[in-house]
Amino acid sequence: MFDKVLIANRGEIALRIHRACREMGIQTVAVHSTADSDAMHVRLADESVCIGPPPARDSYLNIPSILSAATIAGVDAIHPGYGFLSENARFAEAVEAHGFTFIGPTPQHISMMGDKIVAKQTAEELGLPLVPGSPGPVGSVDEVVALGKKIGFPVLIKAVAGGGGRGMKVVESAEAASEAFSLARTEAKAAFSNDAVYVEKYLGRPRHIEIQVLGDGQGAGVHLGERDCSLQRRHQKVLEEAPSPALNPEQRQMIGELAAAAVRKLKYRGAGTMEFLFQDGEFYFIEMNTRLQVEHPITEAITGIDLVREQIRIAAGAPLGMTQADIKFQGHAIECRINAENPQTFVPSPGRIADYHPPGGLGVRVDSGLYTGYSIPPYYDSMVAKLIVNGATRNECLMRLRRSLEEFVIGGIETTIPLHQRIIGEQAFIDGDYDIHWLEKLVGLKK
Ligand code: ADP
Repeated sequence: MFDKVLIANRGEIALRIHRACREMGIQTVAVHSTADSDAMHVRLADESVCIGPPPARDSYLNIPSILSAATIAGVDAIHPGYGFLSENARFAEAVEAHGFTFIGPTPQHISMMGDKIVAKQTAEELGLPLVPGSPGPVGSVDEVVALGKKIGFPVLIKAVAGGGGRGMKVVESAEAASEAFSLARTEAKAAFSNDAVYVEKYLGRPRHIEIQVLGDGQGAGVHLGERDCSLQRRHQKVLEEAPSPALNPEQRQMIGELAAAAVRKLKYRGAGTMEFLFQDGEFYFIEMNTRLQVEHPITEAITGIDLVREQIRIAAGAPLGMTQADIKFQGHAIECRINAENPQTFVPSPGRIADYHPPGGLGVRVDSGLYTGYSIPPYYDSMVAKLIVNGATRNECLMRLRRSLEEFVIGGIETTIPLHQRIIGEQAFIDGDYDIHWLEKLVGLKK
């Protein structure tokens, strides 16, 4: 096992990785920008190294600085967390070239899944169902129109290098194709330095269902069930639950087995997530994320498996240590992503935390680096805490969530806690009856 791991991230996920390491007896090295000197993960880590100024490109995305920190600290391995460099194949390669272990999949699998067209082609070869659409990138508006006529409008233009919902445009009709095509390309170019786009049928009322998988890189692989991440705003997840209230046991077993079989065929290494849209009883693969997801704790809650520990064990060359039959699902879990934002306008609200009191009690978990007196820097993602609750039933989980949100005090800034309170009071949510557009309709972004 490793003696020392560098955590190439910040915020709650850096803390989450630190916790897994400490429980395994592994020393941790935090890296941080000058804006994060007072961050909780920096305080708790065994060692810390400042790697640059606040802008992420100069610090958390700065590969030479991170590798220098790893060399100086003498670590064995690097955990990239999510976001930042976690799905950067070049980083994974550089980590290994410098003699460290990358806690994640091979650079080949990262690049394969980072190109959404290659990912979809691979998924098809692996026997996963796809959303109908263009077999490759589309080079002209005429191609978009022709495809729209063939598979039916509306269609969705998506960035080949996409992520975070950027570079995505819905095309309602042939007339609207030209504008959407150039907008999507410009956005993709700005966000990913790659303006290649492709087209998919736009599904009107799907749910977002994703399957957590683990592979040992040698051909063993399992699935850890699904997460329903349909509650989204601007294609960003807001609240997630496991299991999905929309699946019956047969559908659950079918898609889980398909995903696990795909992991085995790929000889995939580490943790990953296969994302599907689900509508009218059918699944459609959209992408695979080759990293730990923000919402991984709900899977941990219903399986009792520490996903970060498994990532580290696999990276250290240990066998999977579990078969599908060993994985037992118990109860229900829900996660709320709490952002430092105005709950109505979603305008970011960084600043000093005047008062902090997280909820507690049975079945309540809070992953957050917040503390009283901490100042949230304005440079990064606005998610500042995750509240995860679990219970024997979905109803128990909802009651626990209601009282936990009531207990949660984050003073001095605005947060999205009131938005979550509103969501869980809605009858449609209580009934589990929502699709990926439901939340935007609720907050008035969509008709
Ligand atoms: P990204 O990598 O940018 O997050 P995804 O392919 O994962 O992009 O899609 C993000 C979200 O966009 C999905 O969860 C879903 O809400 C929506 N979406 C993606 N593809 C489609 C589609 N074909 N039809 C309708 N909605 C879609």
